[in-house]
Amino acid sequence: MAYDVFVVGGGPSGATAADELARAGKSVALLDRAGRIKPCGGAIPPRLIEDFDIPDSQIVARIRTARMISPTGRKVDIPIEGGFVGMVDREHFDEWLRRRAAKAGAERLTGTFLRVERDSFHTYVVWREKATGEEKRSETKLVIGADGAKSDVARAEVPGGDKIPMVIAYHEIIKPPTSSVIDYDPTRCDVIYDGRVSPDFYGWIFPHGETASVGMGTGILGFDLKEATALLRRQAGLDQCETIRKEGAPIPLQPLEKWDNGKDVVLAGDAAGVVAPSSGEGIYYAFVGGQVAARACLAALKSGRATDLQLARKMFMADHKTVFKVLRSMQDAYYRDDERRERFVSLCHDTDVQRLTFESYMNKKLTSKQPWAHIKIGFKNVMHLTRLVSPQWT
Ligand SMILES: Cc1cc2nc3c(=O)[nH]c(=O)nc-3n(C[C@H](O)[C@H](O)[C@H](O)COP(=O)(O)OP(=O)(O)OC[C@H]3O[C@@H](n4cnc5c(N)ncnc54)[C@H](O)[C@@H]3O)c2cc1C
Repeated sequence: MAYDVFVVGGGPSGATAADELARAGKSVALLDRAGRIKPCGGAIPPRLIEDFDIPDSQIVARIRTARMISPTGRKVDIPIEGGFVGMVDREHFDEWLRRRAAKAGAERLTGTFLRVERDSFHTYVVWREKATGEEKRSETKLVIGADGAKSDVARAEVPGGDKIPMVIAYHEIIKPPTSSVIDYDPTRCDVIYDGRVSPDFYGWIFPHGETASVGMGTGILGFDLKEATALLRRQAGLDQCETIRKEGAPIPLQPLEKWDNGKDVVLAGDAAGVVAPSSGEGIYYAFVGGQVAARACLAALKSGRATDLQLARKMFMADHKTVFKVLRSMQDAYYRDDERRERFVSLCHDTDVQRLTFESYMNKKLTSKQPWAHIKIGFKNVMHLTRLVSPQWT
């Protein structure tokens, strides 16, 4: 039997694509190699919870405050008004998403993608089944590559798929402290801007209910991620907490110019390079990436035109290009050195900055209700970047 769509990768993007396609009545395979928990801070915005029907049972913590910490240790607490940032545990969340796709009708396969093969008329995905070790050849009309950063599908099938710039993110899953002396709050995320913790990104402490994720990211080769995380844990008083897991993975930094191969393959999520600059937020964009890839496949299956696969990138960019541009300029401007980081955290005191940042994170919109606030923020940015003002802490 030939599938309509063969989805490679059962993370948020692949599982969402498979779910959407199965609900539309298509025959769909969802291949995941299984056996590894995706290293991830697990923070998701309310927009995702709402748009993709994530049940309460998957939210292991609700975050009500974001604390920004500057290189000199100054702290700005930003209350998350009118909602919360949800925390998911990827060990259980991803499996739940795969099950939901299977319930909708997707066929789950467990194994490793090897390659795409074609003859004059047909396309096949060749993969190795985990249970038997056998090589399988599945016929399909279309393929979605949702196999994460360093995607094998992207590398083999889509131009530029092997050249996506990345940062490496590393974190340790720990047991939260029990001592009240330690300034740890299970409803607060800490974001640490300090060149010793990360010279070009940031460090974080994200509570996950019974555990917490403490980590950092960097694009600088040779930077000692474990040492930086140890420093972050010492600074936060978390060095004595039990460590449950240590793990790292790449985060892509730039969406690919093309997400399809003009024939029968389209990419989604990290495989397409889609993670927000500045924040490293990828889960929401993986869901949306899976959704638009599925919709592009539905269009291509209906019309018989391979060019319809381009719709995936077009639909995504129509909604998110501006936010990505703003976040990219923010990262380029402020993540360079400690002086800039100090200014950035001091800017977070501004209630307009707080509102705009959180509105764009929570609801994925750069609100245009208050154009005057945008102008004020732009002006303050210029003043800081040209050093016409000093960091202000009132
Ligand atoms: C340390 C760290 C912390 C992060 N924290 C956050 C955060 O707090 N919030 C946030 O929004 N984002 C965060 N991200 C980014 C986020 O994890 C990713 O953007 C998101 O997981 C992308 O989803 P995806 O489905 O595209 O890819 P993935 O989640 O990577 O899923 C890919 C799937 O493909 C499967 N696969 C891979 N290769 C093959 C193969 N050859 N054959 C078969 N299956 C295969 C894998 O098993 C996996 O299930 C973080 C990333 C890292 C590394």
